[in-house]
Amino acid sequence: MSEPTAGVGIELSDVTKRYPGQKSGAVENFSLKVEPGELLMFVGPSGCGKTTTMKMINRIIEPTSGSITIDGEDVLSLNPDELRRHIGYVIQQIGLFPHMTIAENIGTVPKLLGWSKTRIAERVDELLRTVALDPAVFAKRYPKQLSGGQQQRVGVARALAADPPVMLMDEPFGATDPITRLRLQEEFRRLQAEIGKTIIFVTHDFDEAVRLGDRIAVLSERSRIEQCDTPANILAAPANDYVAGFIGRGAGLMRLALIPIGEVSLEAPSAEAPALGVDGSLRDALDLLVLTGAERVNVTDAGGATTGSLTHAGISAALGASRSPAGSAS
Ligand code: ADP
Ligand code: MG
Repeated sequence: MSEPTAGVGIELSDVTKRYPGQKSGAVENFSLKVEPGELLMFVGPSGCGKTTTMKMINRIIEPTSGSITIDGEDVLSLNPDELRRHIGYVIQQIGLFPHMTIAENIGTVPKLLGWSKTRIAERVDELLRTVALDPAVFAKRYPKQLSGGQQQRVGVARALAADPPVMLMDEPFGATDPITRLRLQEEFRRLQAEIGKTIIFVTHDFDEAVRLGDRIAVLSERSRIEQCDTPANILAAPANDYVAGFIGRGAGLMRLALIPIGEVSLEAPSAEAPALGVDGSLRDALDLLVLTGAERVNVTDAGGATTGSLTHAGISAALGASRSPAGSAS
């Protein structure tokens, strides 16, 4: 297939949604700019308006006031077919059609768009492989014959079917156990590195937000943005007690996991020390120090040669230096 369609920008300006009979809006005066190709995480408690915001971008519901543009175009001015071609939507409860096969589920939007049978079949095959499901095994099955994690992959494949520049993913890995979830996150990261879509990804799991996001918007009631910045900056300097509470314990360890060993300056290697590869994170290095009780760990390059070493003090110093000076917060 040809190169995937690159992401485009999304901008919400002063968006408010008040459902009928509501005194205060589910979303109030929400403004946010998502850059082309960016993966932005929405993190916030249940009921804070995350799904409502996604549905407005996708025009499943319309804002009471304010405007939303995709690639500079007002979503209310686009016809619904056009919008579906532009946006892949992974809904919160997976939402596969139970009476359709996996292949038919994935082919839903291409069929709506009038693609030929051959083109749809080729696309379905390609997408199943992309999300690591063997087409020969899964294409003809029905959703109930798949595990929760496999169904969620199909949900992601279905959203990607028409190669949209924008993906809205509402707790897409919510229905999986922790181990499957980690695997899906890894696969998803690899996939996004290849396809470069603009993605808004909802989760209530701060760990997931840190692992996947280019930026994280931490939301409170009525979609109020408490902080919007890179994971490293939010972890290093939470804007207020609300954000700090959301991060919970372990901010230091989460930050260490974001810093590759290759980015820090090393000390001279020791003759006798446990070794780990340069492609690990500072968290891996600390883990090895704690597990072995050693004073330092040696770092080896891809060819296995020892290039330097790290100590507890070196790791702490790197953490202190890792905060980017100005940040990109708004
Ligand atoms: P989240 O996805 O963050 O859990 P939602 O966007 O689903 O939050 O809901 C935000 C608020 O709007 C909640 O108080 C919810 O009860 C309310 N709400 C959501 N959908 C509707 C609806 N169709 N009608 C009335 N109120 C709704
Ligand atoms: Mg929701």
